[in-house]
Amino acid sequence: MIIVTRKGVTDAEIDHIREKVEALGLRTHLSRGEYRTVIGCVGDEEKLDRLPLLSIPGVEEVHPVMKPYKLAAREFAAADTRIPLGSGELGGEEVFVVAGPCSVEGMEMLERTARAVRDAGARALRGGAYKPRTSPYSFHGLAEEGLRILSEVRERTGLPVVTEVMDTRQVDAVAAHADVLQIGARNMQNYNLLTEVGRLHRPVLLKRGMSATLREFLLAAEYVMKQGNTDVILCERGIRTFETMTRNTLDVSAIPVLKRESHLPVVADPSHAGGRSDLVAPLAYAAIAAGADGLIVEVHPEPEEALSDGEQSVTFGEFQETMEGLATFARAAGRTLAGPALATAEPAAD
Ligand code: PEP
Ligand code: MN
Repeated sequence: MIIVTRKGVTDAEIDHIREKVEALGLRTHLSRGEYRTVIGCVGDEEKLDRLPLLSIPGVEEVHPVMKPYKLAAREFAAADTRIPLGSGELGGEEVFVVAGPCSVEGMEMLERTARAVRDAGARALRGGAYKPRTSPYSFHGLAEEGLRILSEVRERTGLPVVTEVMDTRQVDAVAAHADVLQIGARNMQNYNLLTEVGRLHRPVLLKRGMSATLREFLLAAEYVMKQGNTDVILCERGIRTFETMTRNTLDVSAIPVLKRESHLPVVADPSHAGGRSDLVAPLAYAAIAAGADGLIVEVHPEPEEALSDGEQSVTFGEFQETMEGLATFARAAGRTLAGPALATAEPAAD
């Protein structure tokens, strides 16, 4: 159930409405937007029948939320969720780009990559220290050492870091270093892990499971939000289809559907979707054209030497070109894009 308050409602009136609802055993979530303020109520809605809600001062409208997800539903928030991160903001006007290697392989490669992607306009650095790999014989990441390298590179470059947490036992260690906790596609329905990261006050980048419906995806976000952590970023990373020429199929339609259904920021991962470096730029452009708030892209100094996902990793030069091409699509979608650092460092003409 959501309660829309009248224009000019006072804080005392809002507190009073919340007290009334909470006295019935429901939880309330306040969302203030520029134009309206809504109070979302979660719990046993039947109990609300006992309250003459419309007669409480400050209440203007009352609507049931029929969706299975509540906190993630668009109606539940007065405005789009914006998540400030480093020098940028996710879910705002600017297309927010996260870039970096699939795996943290060492200090030198990570720092070089961080500087290159930052100078091309990326706002955050990605890199896995714990890697979910299809084969148990593949490289599984540098674990704690990888986390320490990420922290060190954040200090040196100023870029916030996004890194994956695979297991509830790793949550504290990863949270000690990461600015954003990534939940991978294979863990989208790991409800214990979702609950655990929901207890933290740290943004979560939740990847869509490779066979998950959008309803399941939004319900996974709901698990995190239900614990109190409402900073969830939804990531479309391609789904399994019958196609074999691409690693996955980027579900472009998921982007506008998620934007319609939810107030949460939506990003796309063109690297895991296509599985090939030459597909990164076109899929990135398609995602932004479809309304995505950002991208997460795999970039490696030497893709052919990468310990994981080399085929889909772009070089520094390719990343820079992709960002340059992206500017047009960002503008067409009514958004801005952080440009290459060189562009702003140019001396003024005299
Ligand atoms: C990754 O980001 O490197 C990764 C493993 O992604 P996904 O969970 O989408 O496969
Ligand atoms: Mn990867």
